[in-house]
Amino acid sequence: MVTLLFGVVAAFGTVQDTREPVFARTVVEPLALPPKLEDNNFDKVFFREDHFQRGDTISALLERLEVEDQQAERLLRSPEARRPFRLLRPGTTVQARTTEDGSLLSMWFIGGRDQLISIDGAGEGFTTSEQPAELTHRIQMRSGDIKSSLFAATDAAGLSDNVATQIADIFAGDVDFHRDLRRGDKFTVVYEMFDHLGRPVRSGRVLAAEFINQKKSYRAVWFQDAEGHGGYYVPDGKNLRKAFLRSPLEFSRITSGFAMRFHPILQQWRAHRGVDYGAPTGTRVKATGDGVVEFVGRQGGYGNVVVLRHGGGVMTAYGHLSRFANGIRKGARVGQGELVGLVGQTGWATGPHLHYEFRVNNQHRNPLTIAFPAAQPVAPERLAAFRAVAGPLAARLDLLATTNLALLE
Ligand SMILES: [Zn+2]
Repeated sequence: MVTLLFGVVAAFGTVQDTREPVFARTVVEPLALPPKLEDNNFDKVFFREDHFQRGDTISALLERLEVEDQQAERLLRSPEARRPFRLLRPGTTVQARTTEDGSLLSMWFIGGRDQLISIDGAGEGFTTSEQPAELTHRIQMRSGDIKSSLFAATDAAGLSDNVATQIADIFAGDVDFHRDLRRGDKFTVVYEMFDHLGRPVRSGRVLAAEFINQKKSYRAVWFQDAEGHGGYYVPDGKNLRKAFLRSPLEFSRITSGFAMRFHPILQQWRAHRGVDYGAPTGTRVKATGDGVVEFVGRQGGYGNVVVLRHGGGVMTAYGHLSRFANGIRKGARVGQGELVGLVGQTGWATGPHLHYEFRVNNQHRNPLTIAFPAAQPVAPERLAAFRAVAGPLAARLDLLATTNLALLE
């Protein structure tokens, strides 16, 4: 049997979010025009663009861009050109200019860290270059309905995975996206979009969102404090961040489809005093609250287990792990959302799943129903500044909500 040690520490910590503030950011970076727009040695220049897709190959992409075969082959063999191609990610827009007979003049795309990467034809060979891209910034809005999973809904709304996981993270203190989602849930999201020469390159931060889960509406707006630390707040100024996340599993495209696949033993919380999350081996398991590692190691039916001690006499336990995260050792401090280990099936488990326990003063509590305290609200002296930001963002959410109603009528 398992023995867990308990300690009592006063009060929950306050919230800090170290991501860079959006409203203070300069979004225009050093100017970089598409390469060599000025050359005019050819009667006709053809301009094409296409997307590099999941499972795509460079040669298929070059064919779609109508680069002629021999040159495409040379490109693929050239070590000089192969290096930038490795920076191509699925979803990236690639633009190319060719002559009438398919000779490549130049091609370019935006790679990681917002670099403009270009490959230029130079006689028989090629030259490549990489420089900071000039990105412009705008605000975009989308909404959608949950029919099967959050990712299916965000895909249908044309949102990136980045925006989908931000939505799940923003409401992670109120909604367990692995268990609470229902058909008919709705979301509306206002977020930053970065463009290069008028074409979307990537999405940025979610600035405001509404999630309607089982007919209950949750709203969030992004706001940063005087020191530039940002966080999400309810439009009335309450903090959206709770002392504990609803779910210890990282929400991802892989786990979202796993929602209801619980392993057959001891499904009832009452029967075994924990919650089981079916998930593929290797799924990331996060600390649900700030705390200190009380135990890490192997323990009977729990298999590999991490036990964290939090404020207010709370302990959380994460069992059946396949691996522990680096730095998880007794006495180590862990922040909310930090990795503690990976899902596995060590100990008493018939399939890969996470066993999660939540105890208050050594009493098992059901983490699915317990109310968690919220982090600090917007400070009184910042309320006026907060309202100036939150008002227009909430108005955008209202606008989309009204538009959706109008569409239904
Ligand atoms: Zn269990």
